[in-house]
Amino acid sequence: MNPIQVTRSSMPGFEEYVEEIKDLWKNHWLTNMGVKHKQLEKELLKYLDVSNIALFVNGHLALENIIAAFNLTGEVITTPFTFASTTHAIVRNGLKPVFCDINPEDYTIDVDKLENLINEKTSAIVPVHVYGNVCNVEKIGKLAKEHNLKVIYDAAHAFGVTVNGVSIANFGDAAMFSFHATKVFNTIEGGAVIFHDEKLYKKLNQLKNFGITSRESVGYIGGNAKMNEFQAAMGICNLRHVDSEIAKRKSVVERYTERLSDIKGIKLCKPQRGVKRNYAYFPVIFDGYKLNRNEVFEKLKTQKIFARKYFYPLTNRFECYRDRFDIGETPVAKYISDRVLALPLYADLSLEDVDRICDIILDK
Ligand SMILES: *Cc1c(COP(=O)(O)O)cnc(C)c1O
Repeated sequence: MNPIQVTRSSMPGFEEYVEEIKDLWKNHWLTNMGVKHKQLEKELLKYLDVSNIALFVNGHLALENIIAAFNLTGEVITTPFTFASTTHAIVRNGLKPVFCDINPEDYTIDVDKLENLINEKTSAIVPVHVYGNVCNVEKIGKLAKEHNLKVIYDAAHAFGVTVNGVSIANFGDAAMFSFHATKVFNTIEGGAVIFHDEKLYKKLNQLKNFGITSRESVGYIGGNAKMNEFQAAMGICNLRHVDSEIAKRKSVVERYTERLSDIKGIKLCKPQRGVKRNYAYFPVIFDGYKLNRNEVFEKLKTQKIFARKYFYPLTNRFECYRDRFDIGETPVAKYISDRVLALPLYADLSLEDVDRICDIILDK
C-alpha cells in the first residue's frame, strides 16, 4: 500500500503550467509585481469578491505586514489553537498576544470570553477561521467597534468560504489568506491580505519591498516579502481548477462523515448555518472512544497513514514562549488540542482510501 500523507498539493497539468510561464522567457521580469502578479491580483479580487488585495511571498509575512501596516501597540487578543504563524506574527511585531479561549463547537475564538480580556492596552483582535470554520464575525465586529479595535482575521484556512453568500474575505479590517502548498488554493508558497481601507494598498506593497517609498526614499523599515512570477503563474493555473478541487474534497468529507458519524466517543465538526464550506480539513475529536487520539494516530501510522495532531501543542505552550503564558487560561483549547486529529484530506484522496482509513479507526 502506498503511504497516505495528511495532505497533497493541488497542481495544474504540467503543460498548463509550462504554457503559463512561457511569457517569462520573453520579458525576463521574474519578480517585483510583474505581469503574472498583476493578473493574479485581478483574478483573486474577482474570485474573492473584494476590492483590495496585496499579494505576498507567503501567508505568514502577509500577516506580519498587515499587523505592521496598522501601527498597532500594546496587546492583541488571539487564540492559541492555531498554527505557530498567528502568534509569532503578533510577537515579531513587538506586541503582546493575549490568549482568549476557543468555543467547543467550532474551535474559533469564544466571543463570550473576549470582552473580559479587552483593556486600555488592547489595540486589535486576531481571530482565526480555524479549519475554515467561520468565527462569530458579527459579535467580533460589534465588540471591536465599541472598543475601537482593529480586527485582522487569520483566514489561512478559509479560502473560498462564504457566509450567507458573502465572501469570508470581507469581514474585519483585513483578512490574511495563505496560499501554501498544503492549502486549498496554492501558489506553491504564497499569501495575500484583503483589506477595506484602499490607502493600505500602497503601504503594504512598500512594506513588502524593504519599505522603499520612491526611487530615492525609504519610508518604512520593511522586509522582503514579494510574491514572484512563478508563484503567481502557479496561482493563475490553480485558480482555474479550485472549484472542482473543492468539489472533490467535498465528496471525501461526505464519505468520512458518513462513516464516522454517530460513533460513541467520536465527535465531528458540525456544518455551520449559512456557510459555504471549502472542506479544507477533517478534524476529529476522540473523547471517550475506545482508542485515544494518540493511539489512533499511532495505529494509522503503522499502516503508513499519516494523520496530523493539528493543532497540538497550543502556541501558548511552545518552548519559545516558556514561562510567558499560562495554558490554564485556555482550558477548552487545551482539551481540544489533546484530543483532535486531522485525518488525511485532499482532492485526489480516493473514497477507497477513505474507507480504509475509517476501517482502521473503527477496527473493522
Ligand atoms: C498556513 C497557515 C499560516 C501561514 O501561512 P504560510 O503561507 O504557510 O506562511 C498562518 N495561519 C494558519 C492558521 C495557517 O494554517
